[in-house]
Amino acid sequence: MIKRKINIFGTTGSIGQSTLQVFRKNKGAYDFIVFSAFDNVDQLINDCIEFKPQYANIGNEKQFLKLKNALFDTDIILSCGRASLVDLACTKVDWSMSAIVGFSGVEVSLRCAEHSKILALANKEALVCAGKLLLSICKSNNTKLIPVDSEHSAIFQCLEGERRVDLRSITLTASGGPFRNWSLKRIRSATLEDALKHPNWSMGTRITIDSASMFNKSLELIEAMHLFELDFSDVEVIIHPQSIIHSMVNFNDGSTLAQLSLPDMRGSIGYSLNYPNRLNIGMENIDFAKIGSLEFYEPDKNKFRSLELVEKVGRNLDLGVIFNAAKEIALDRFISGEIAFLDMVDLVEKTLAESSLVNRIAHTPQNVSDILEINELTRVIAKKIEF
Ligand code: NAD
Ligand code: MG
Repeated sequence: MIKRKINIFGTTGSIGQSTLQVFRKNKGAYDFIVFSAFDNVDQLINDCIEFKPQYANIGNEKQFLKLKNALFDTDIILSCGRASLVDLACTKVDWSMSAIVGFSGVEVSLRCAEHSKILALANKEALVCAGKLLLSICKSNNTKLIPVDSEHSAIFQCLEGERRVDLRSITLTASGGPFRNWSLKRIRSATLEDALKHPNWSMGTRITIDSASMFNKSLELIEAMHLFELDFSDVEVIIHPQSIIHSMVNFNDGSTLAQLSLPDMRGSIGYSLNYPNRLNIGMENIDFAKIGSLEFYEPDKNKFRSLELVEKVGRNLDLGVIFNAAKEIALDRFISGEIAFLDMVDLVEKTLAESSLVNRIAHTPQNVSDILEINELTRVIAKKIEF
């Protein structure tokens, strides 16, 4: 039996660990090629011992010695730092999971798109910052891009076998996060601890806070526009507190198709791995009687202004990299305690305005180096915005 060759970038993260859980069902059918992590060397060591990849990369050089000492008696080829990480993303494989968080995962996603037969994309920032480029690389290399973000996986699944011309619009569902029922006044004084209490999903720190501010949904809106070639007006967001319907596709004949499953990322990861089949990945089906009812309501854009702000990007997708860079700095500054929760959206708004005046930022990115430069310059502006 020929084994499928597998890369997992961001192995030690929330998505990375859910991915390994899916592989644990049938480890022998795969050859693990590259594993990567930034900081969590202990987890990477454990994963390497269990799955025996050919290569392992750690981002933080301070952790490299520990990695080498722990794995000295294995055949795993170890490396450290960004240049080797990007090189490793150029390894020819059957399936790559791109699950590094944030802009740090964008270049890796682009390389995987060139060299993997299937790109399982969790790193939504790659589409937000470099959507046009990513899709054109996939096209010219005949790479199948399968989204792992649960909403986009749902839409992808609902569109299987359908004609693109029959699609009218899509409805992205959002849990509403921990502040769904909080007043604006209360959100004003929300702490980091409050923002980390997601009601339904267990995820990495950064995406959990982005879910509380609904910046995550804003990024997902742009992600959907790129993936499914939609206009901003074709995508609506609806709050669905139970996170059972992961998103919906509305067709010209008035029909809507939805994809439902328990909120567990193994679902969309397994789908991207086994596509077009649906193998047992250890997930139960929904017990509808137990859930009882599913609710839906409009998001409150006064409370979650990121949903309003994203319209600027939706009308000009070139702004994606600026929007994301500003959001990442806002998040860093909130996590460090420097700014308040609602300052994040103000910071992004001000950065968008200021960066539009800088010629080297305000142009259409043509290639990876343009995207890297716009990202860097925007960060400088976002760090300087005062409160
Ligand atoms: P996480 O913080 O749990 O894990 C991130 C991974 O990236 C870790 O392995 C970390 O070591 C690695 N990493 C971080 N910075 C790095 C750097 N500079 N260089 C190299 N590696 C680095 O994040 P996560 O929740 O697993 O999310 C990963 C991606 O998937 C994000 O883009 C997120 O938006 C997306 N996503 C996550 C979920 C979820 O349920 N967690 C759902 C949908 C989409
Ligand atoms: Mg999502």
